[in-house]
Amino acid sequence: MYEQASPGVESVTRDASAPHSTKHVDAIVIGAGLGGLLSAAHLLQRGKRVVVLERLPHSGGRFTAKNFHGVQVSTGAVHMVPFGSSGVLSHMLQRLHVPHRLFDADVFGSFHAHGKTYRARGLLGVLKFFSPRQSWWFLRLGWLMFFQPLPEEERRLPFDLWLERHIPVEQCPQLVAFFASIARFALSLELHQVSTAEVVNTTKNMLRYGAPAIVKGGCGEITRQLEQIVHSYNGEIRLSCEVLQILQEDGVVNAVRVKQKDTGEEELIQAPLIVSDIGPRATDGLLHNCRVKQADVLKPKDTASSSDEAASAHVQEAVGLKVHILSDVSLIPHKGIMYCLDTQRIAGMVQPTNSDPTLAPAGKHLLISHQVIQSNNVEEERALALSDLRYLFGETFDKHCQILTMGTYRGEWPVNRISQGEDVDPQLDVRGLYMVGDAVKPSGYLMVEGVAQSVNNFLDLLENMDQEQEAVRKNDPRIRRNVMAPPSRLNALRWLWRAPGNSRNVGKS
Ligand SMILES: Cc1cc2nc3c(=O)[nH]c(=O)nc-3n(C[C@H](O)[C@H](O)[C@H](O)COP(=O)(O)OP(=O)(O)OC[C@H]3O[C@@H](n4cnc5c(N)ncnc54)[C@H](O)[C@@H]3O)c2cc1C
Repeated sequence: MYEQASPGVESVTRDASAPHSTKHVDAIVIGAGLGGLLSAAHLLQRGKRVVVLERLPHSGGRFTAKNFHGVQVSTGAVHMVPFGSSGVLSHMLQRLHVPHRLFDADVFGSFHAHGKTYRARGLLGVLKFFSPRQSWWFLRLGWLMFFQPLPEEERRLPFDLWLERHIPVEQCPQLVAFFASIARFALSLELHQVSTAEVVNTTKNMLRYGAPAIVKGGCGEITRQLEQIVHSYNGEIRLSCEVLQILQEDGVVNAVRVKQKDTGEEELIQAPLIVSDIGPRATDGLLHNCRVKQADVLKPKDTASSSDEAASAHVQEAVGLKVHILSDVSLIPHKGIMYCLDTQRIAGMVQPTNSDPTLAPAGKHLLISHQVIQSNNVEEERALALSDLRYLFGETFDKHCQILTMGTYRGEWPVNRISQGEDVDPQLDVRGLYMVGDAVKPSGYLMVEGVAQSVNNFLDLLENMDQEQEAVRKNDPRIRRNVMAPPSRLNALRWLWRAPGNSRNVGKS
């Protein structure tokens, strides 16, 4: 539904509609996704004149929603924030005075395994569905991941191979499926696609910060509030305005060339600072006066031309398929994630209406399933999703549920522009140009927590530039003030018995 027709490599030529006017600002933000809006709000708070340029007719990118038959159908995210009310995004929203409310999960999760659902209030709850032998190996892995330093030669090892090295995987099918379903739901990756260091860093952070949360009003509400903050500081958000080119002189950015889609008019906007929220492939395209098109990004590798290959070099995105379901009856009895260990494709599901009933019409429930796309056969992937839903809920599914949308997320509208752990450097060779968003997530910070932390990282880089000389004078290491340090390791202990977070307080209010 929201798969975007967009950016292969298409040369953008100047013609009669060449730019006719020039505007000067302090900073240009390309893309009004979450990363772009958060960056703009911070820059405005620092007194800069900012313009945000978005080619779609709405802000929010993959973190907003549209009302479809009274349901908040999201453009990407499943209305969920990975580290909940204690996470990086939540702290950033507080710092920016953006009103928001997050409902933390009340369980570690539930797990559909060997045809049954097991509810785990805390981490130890998973021992309910592991055999004694697998429970022993589970504890052993916990020891290796959290109490032992990861040997250097194991850091880059794909996580499936690391498991093979440390446990008898053939005798531990549930344990392997446990890790696989979490990686598929949380990272949209298979275990062979993610390094051991990244799994360890991400898991440590998940345990140290807190339980995931559903956003009150859905992800579109955060986007709306951020838009208001940008406007309240007199920032400008130009919708339906596509950036065609990033201009530079002597290795320093100085302007962008844009096209207003409704009028076809082109304009030059000048600024010494450009923040790109569109990922490295599209940013590189704009620097070379090229547009990256969805069709070319999705071309099989052997048919891609050399210029396509150049444009998509080194970019490995995370891809997924998401289903929005409306149900007359509740199918998941908690506010957390139901992980699916015994399905063909679906990795996990949430029922966000348990936290915020207004996300669907009164008396109905919204359910969202997520899976990694494992082949190029999208029809088959959809059919497997349907077959999984029937397996999980039996007759109830056909009797009480309606599929609202079933969308694939890949190419220029993926789950993550770069797979967790493969993220690129936010600072480019061209001075004054920085990247934010889910292609530059710092290690251990997934999804929108990674987006928020990427914005913190950008702010530190910017401020370091100003303070570099002073730091050198004082013989200080680089001053880092925005990137959030993870909370105490001891916080992880809270997970043993129950999910940490605000779920008990929220229930009372
Ligand atoms: C199916 C799915 C499920 C997900 N689930 C979750 C979840 O539950 N929790 C979570 O935390 N995260 C989730 N994510 C990930 C999360 O949605 C993204 O990481 C996040 O929204 C990315 O934000 P961004 O600002 O980096 O990029 P984007 O949201 O992609 O924003 C970039 C913007 O730039 C615009 N743009 C592109 N090119 C141009 C141009 N040339 N000129 C002007 N504008 C341009 C685009 O239109 C877009 O609006 C999910 C993603 C998907 C797809």
